[in-house]
Amino acid sequence: MLSTMQDVPLTVSRILAHGSTIHGESEVITWTGGADPQRRTFAEVGRRAAQLAHALRDELGVVAEERVATLAWNNAEHLEAYLAIPSMGAVLHTLNLRLPAEQLAWIINHAEDRVVLVNGTVIPLLAPLLPQLRTLEHLVVIGPGDLSALADAQVRVHDYEELIAGRAETFDWPEIDEREAAALCYTSGTTGDPKGVLYSHRSLYLHSLQVNNAEAFALSSQDIALPVVPMFHVNAWGLPHAAFMAGASLLMPDRFLQPAPLAEMIEAVRPTIGAAVPTIWQGLLAELDATKRDVACLKTVIIGGSACPPVLMRGFQDRHGIRVVHAWGMTETSPLGTVAHPPAGASGEEEWTYRATQGRFPASVEARLIGPGGEELPWDGESAGELEVRGPWIAGAYYGGAEGEPLRPEDKFSPDGWLRTGDVGTITANGYLTLTDRAKDVIKSGGEWISSVELENHLMAHPHVAEAAVVAVPDEKWGERPLATVVLRDGAVIGYEELKAFLGERIARWQLPERWAVIPSVPKTSVGKFDKKVLRRQYAEGELD
Ligand code: ADP
Repeated sequence: MLSTMQDVPLTVSRILAHGSTIHGESEVITWTGGADPQRRTFAEVGRRAAQLAHALRDELGVVAEERVATLAWNNAEHLEAYLAIPSMGAVLHTLNLRLPAEQLAWIINHAEDRVVLVNGTVIPLLAPLLPQLRTLEHLVVIGPGDLSALADAQVRVHDYEELIAGRAETFDWPEIDEREAAALCYTSGTTGDPKGVLYSHRSLYLHSLQVNNAEAFALSSQDIALPVVPMFHVNAWGLPHAAFMAGASLLMPDRFLQPAPLAEMIEAVRPTIGAAVPTIWQGLLAELDATKRDVACLKTVIIGGSACPPVLMRGFQDRHGIRVVHAWGMTETSPLGTVAHPPAGASGEEEWTYRATQGRFPASVEARLIGPGGEELPWDGESAGELEVRGPWIAGAYYGGAEGEPLRPEDKFSPDGWLRTGDVGTITANGYLTLTDRAKDVIKSGGEWISSVELENHLMAHPHVAEAAVVAVPDEKWGERPLATVVLRDGAVIGYEELKAFLGERIARWQLPERWAVIPSVPKTSVGKFDKKVLRRQYAEGELD
């Protein structure tokens, strides 16, 4: 028997309508590098989103289901695009401006983007690609920039402000099936071609509700959220949509992502919650330690994207009173998969143990651990296997291109439709996930697994070590052995023997790396994570010896 409840679609236009009216006075504040950031109310964002939709439809001929791309930093105009493009029935395609040029061109061609909204400051990056872009017709330039590189381009170039000026400030948003595509984000393609994850209106809506849940990030209209994580990296982890839904103001860092301007904008605009990958927060922590800024406003810092070293959590809390919340997710999981809030009653070291895990799953994310023989493993905190998940904001396939069928590669989806995360770990009886590695980063030594993450976390707790990355290298006797690469803090002088002894007090002897290298910095991916592929390659080429 069907229920008697209304069947109202969960859509981005609902988030837009709600945020721009009920929370019309909340603000999006974009850092401009000076003392005077740009401020825009959610009501204005709503009006400008309507103007943008009119411009896209009437001037550029954007139709339903068409992918409209953005190549932009975190700023108010990007937020307007986030809300307008899906609400008009098109698909917001966020492009990662740190990808290598060939990958970016591949992705734009695959998505068949005809229109790209681009920050003026990013044009030098896009201009050389233009001859390769088969479907591009319109560039909409946001903010100032040097347009000279576009002089000979075979595309029409528009100024964002001129394009939207004078257009109607309301839009008759179409009623859209909540299962329709709303946004498209490609994974960075560490193996093979990049893969497009196509979020639905429903998945974005439900994900936003979860982001605002108290067991996740608990955004409310009392908050100012600072997404340092880029809007092209899994929708800035859902914070723009969630903030618009909750009425939380947004502090957008634009291109000012270095530790000093981040500290400056935190002191000036006083956000209450921020989110970024560990490398960004590592830099900010060093900046705060050195400059003693007033950042008491910042209550919570969300760290995810790669394992958060416990020493980083403790540093923020002990020295600056900022609580770090560790979370796990992927492009394919929208990304919210787990959040590490400790259980009721945990205190002292026990509380830290829970907070250092990747955390617990919300009701909408089902999880299972699969062993090497395909068997399901118990949640006993010890049995380690590959994590598989399913739920309403988890991808069930990849975008196959305009005419193509959705792609379901076997290594990514189980026969019964669960997402194979490629992450290896354990789950406790009360649901806490601890990731020991990515399947491809696991070090298999003499039939046993060594967790690179565990070694890295211990090494980064050494006072002379700024960063540490451990990778597998081939070994005649054991198959693979760990190579520990470390970045030393400025002025630190320390030998491998001392680091080895430090590690020896914390892990089993057979796991101790024999191979060590001091490197100037750990190579990073396009979203700021340790790039172990590059590290391994450099080592194979002997660059570290
Ligand atoms: P990419 O493959 O480009 O890094 P994603 O941003 O989707 O793309 O990365 C998802 C992966 O990042 C996860 O599968 C996991 O390996 C890693 N990851 C994310 N959050 C965490 C975390 N808190 N701890 C450990 N690993 C994490």
